[in-house]
Amino acid sequence: MRIIIFGPPGAGKGTQAKMVADHLGIVHLSTGKLFREAINAGTELGNIVKSFIDEGHLVPDQTVVDMVEQTIAGDEYKDGYVIDGFPRTVEQAVAFDHLLERRNEVVDAFISLHAPDEELIQRLLSRGEGRSDDTEEKIKTRLDVYKEETAPVMEYYQQAGMFRSVDGTGSIEEIYQRILSALPKR
Ligand code: ADP
Repeated sequence: MRIIIFGPPGAGKGTQAKMVADHLGIVHLSTGKLFREAINAGTELGNIVKSFIDEGHLVPDQTVVDMVEQTIAGDEYKDGYVIDGFPRTVEQAVAFDHLLERRNEVVDAFISLHAPDEELIQRLLSRGEGRSDDTEEKIKTRLDVYKEETAPVMEYYQQAGMFRSVDGTGSIEEIYQRILSALPKR
């Protein structure tokens, strides 16, 4: 199964994607996490993406799409994956579809987590992971970027018919149960 966990910054995508992936026995793919690892390791990719991430801006589409393509070519991704943080623009969604088409694969579910802005801001400010983009100013930029560039991705998947909207408020366990109920039955 290939599942996308979608939502604004602070919606809990990463936490939930990991739990769902473990539950299904497939891998978790987080573009944001891969970028942060590349930055920490000082790789060429890390150097390219660092300034975008630090500013709360999006990494250029082609860079992200190339990284996803290379990642899912790995053997452990062949049985499926739960992906979070991607696609984050309609251009990425289109490129992802083309990529999957070439591999004879489809997206099985698109889970959209939603929560009020005030709650998202509170969660990001209090998560204390020391991320360079978790300051008040950068959080505001990320939420603006989400509304302008990322939210339209929802319409793209609504048209494609695998869209599920899930309430992202409450406890981690409550949200997790809602997501499991929203997944297609295998
Ligand atoms: P959050 O959703 O809380 O912002 P992520 O870890 O998903 O956290 O993303 C952190 C940052 O990594 C983003 O602000 C952006 O700079 C970069 N990034 C991650 N995924 C993408 C993507 N698909 N396209 C462009 N930039 C991305």
